[in-house]
Amino acid sequence: GQCRAVCPTGAISIKQDVEPVWKILADKNIRVVAQIAPAVRVAVGDKFGIKKGENALGRLVAALRRIGFDEVYDTNFGADLTVMEESKELVERLESGENLPLFTSCCPAWVKFCERKYPEFKEHISTCRSPQEMFGALIKEDAKMKADKEPRKTMVVSIMPCTAKKAEITRPEHFTDGVQNVDYVLTTTEITRMIQAAGIDLAQVKPEAMDMPFGLASGAGAIFGVTGGVTEAVLRRLVNSNRAEDLEAISFTGVRGAEGIKEATVQLGDREVHIAVVNGLHCASEVLDKIKAGEVHYDFVEVMACKRGCIAGGGQPVPIGPRTKKARMEGMYKIDSTAQIKLSNENPIVTTVYEGILKGKEHKLLHNK
Ligand code: SF4
Repeated sequence: GQCRAVCPTGAISIKQDVEPVWKILADKNIRVVAQIAPAVRVAVGDKFGIKKGENALGRLVAALRRIGFDEVYDTNFGADLTVMEESKELVERLESGENLPLFTSCCPAWVKFCERKYPEFKEHISTCRSPQEMFGALIKEDAKMKADKEPRKTMVVSIMPCTAKKAEITRPEHFTDGVQNVDYVLTTTEITRMIQAAGIDLAQVKPEAMDMPFGLASGAGAIFGVTGGVTEAVLRRLVNSNRAEDLEAISFTGVRGAEGIKEATVQLGDREVHIAVVNGLHCASEVLDKIKAGEVHYDFVEVMACKRGCIAGGGQPVPIGPRTKKARMEGMYKIDSTAQIKLSNENPIVTTVYEGILKGKEHKLLHNK
């Protein structure tokens, strides 16, 4: 679709990481930690005859263990951290009035697009690292702190819906103390091939739970995989209520849905916050040109390069027709509606890491500058 036409790592040559990952999985001196992105779970079942949009997370966790991953965690937990940091950043910018609107930073194809085509807006991009990068930095810091108990070297492999995520991990601002936060990115398509090569039929695998502690995530972290999800998650944090009526009110502000550009206004305290959700890069220019011309005023702008968000990313199994998109989108919202924890700040593991591993290192581990 539109994303792949502009995606810098797309069409021409997509980096293949299956071979190097097999190699580290076979190395007994390496502890290999996997993290699974929100949108992967509703698509990875496609090539195994699992119903479209069904959440195959438990099966994927079991399959990853069988092919040799030592621990399996949830990028949704990383997304919870992103919600915490990005909502804080939005509040700070609203107070200072500087660099508004704040632009989301979790889609690397969008970040690159903005840097290249609209460099004048560079300072507007959130300093937050993306969920996979926050998570990778956390895992490596945790490993560093436990180095006396763990002789193996820790490597992080992300399972992502996206080819642009492969380029994101090599950007120097995503290094912590000179070390890559994430070592390899496998797309949903690549992990599908690895599971098939291992002779595993995902449809026949008994689902397993993720490892703890980083396997626990809120529903807000889950919806990062669809357009409008990041915005909805940040709004939940700022409204800070888990009452069903309030959650529903946020979902009805206009952030959900498949339109190219969605607008919403939310009352936060005595201030009206103006939001735009951009669904697909082809609509980003229109919004940025209007901001530049002073025709529109926003405080927060979410952009996802792929139409409908990561559920239709360039690393997801094809075909992705309208029915598949709809099923995946519904699958994502179902994970949220059945989640016991709705708000990122109510995730007890989030509280634990802020008081532990992250203490005093929030900026170093979770931000780019
Ligand atoms: Fe990747 Fe998601 Fe951005 Fe598409 S929308 S390029 S899948 S991060």
